[in-house]
Amino acid sequence: MCGIVAYVGNKPAAPLLIEGLKRLEYRGYDSAGLAVLNGGTRQTPGTLNLSRSVGRVSVLEEQVAAGGDRFDGALGIAHTRWATHGAPSVNNAHPHMTRSVAVVHNGIIENFKALRSELAKEGIVTETDTDTETIALLAQHYMQ
Ligand code: GLU
Repeated sequence: MCGIVAYVGNKPAAPLLIEGLKRLEYRGYDSAGLAVLNGGTRQTPGTLNLSRSVGRVSVLEEQVAAGGDRFDGALGIAHTRWATHGAPSVNNAHPHMTRSVAVVHNGIIENFKALRSELAKEGIVTETDTDTETIALLAQHYMQ
């Protein structure tokens, strides 16, 4: 069963997100990931930085540490995945991200094939095997 952690505050988000994922490891998972918003002000958008890995949260932790100041932001979301749609892989791991949207999700989107068809009619191409990606793509589309 998947796990979801989110943080917004004054501290660097990444260590708190990783700690949260470690506490949820007992639930079982096949891959893990996080997205952190770096920088940004009321006038300028920040940058969403993404890290995903297959296997233990400790692998993700090492990747994030190697990412340096890309993961210094104080707002983020994190996920441990239990694959239902698509193999356990880095590309299918959450968060699923577009230019300005990052999504983590627990469960199944029953109508994801219909949503994919709607996206395809708009010329929007999916890049993963997951149902979850449709949410990020739809959100980005309607925000535009
Ligand atoms: N259905 C989603 C996927 O396969 C979410 C799985 C989960 O709950 O971890 O990526």
